[in-house]
Amino acid sequence: GGMRKKLIAGNWKMNQTPSQAVVLADALKKTVSGKEAAEIVVCPPYTALIPVRDALKGSSIHLGAQDLHWEDQGAFTGKISADMLLDAGCTHVIIGHSEQRTYFHETDATVNKKLIKALAGGLVPIFCIGETLEERDGGRAFDVVKKQLEGGFAGMKDAGHTVLAYEPVWAIGTGRNATPEQAQEMHAFIRKTIASLFSAAVADGMRILYGGSMKPDNAAGLLAQPDIDGGLIGGAALKADSFYGIVKAAG
Ligand code: PEP
Repeated sequence: GGMRKKLIAGNWKMNQTPSQAVVLADALKKTVSGKEAAEIVVCPPYTALIPVRDALKGSSIHLGAQDLHWEDQGAFTGKISADMLLDAGCTHVIIGHSEQRTYFHETDATVNKKLIKALAGGLVPIFCIGETLEERDGGRAFDVVKKQLEGGFAGMKDAGHTVLAYEPVWAIGTGRNATPEQAQEMHAFIRKTIASLFSAAVADGMRILYGGSMKPDNAAGLLAQPDIDGGLIGGAALKADSFYGIVKAAG
């Protein structure tokens, strides 16, 4: 996987008011030199996107959103379109996060529509997949992840610049991370599945992030695995020093 540039993305979830977010963005901007080996993305809540964009001007840190709606515009109260995100300075967008799946009716079918819309607009989707504890304990983790990939990419001939994020639900916000070996096993399976859905070349070029309680002290072991190309970071992304500790662990 030497050709794949690592990506470290921070998912701020429903944290940080606009003014708090600017303080965090300023701290990150001061810390990041631009010479890091990994690409860096931060995903603040919608209301903080524009202030964070402005705070990050001149830095190498990219801006992402946490979701989008698949329609272009209209009577969809509460929703945000791809054009709105692009105009607010986003280059990336998280799609299919397990919290969206668990609490807000996200399905493989809605993920599919969102992926198509994001790619059509030129946004890089960070497409999240991963099994629950019950599914892992029941021996179904690989089947579940395969189904999420097949459903999310249904009917698509091209995955564009899609980035995948494997996030075992049992490791998100629990402090219980997958071992590097467990994660590598799944990442290799995901890459094999991508090869069968698209091609070996697409699979070889696709970045697959790990997410789930990644911290500065466990990141290096995960990021050293051949099929782990970065991280999607929740809790540890809310402090500049811990987020940057993970960026440095990426090499
Ligand atoms: C996430 O929800 O994307 C995540 C990885 O969260 P945490 O790092 O807090 O487990």
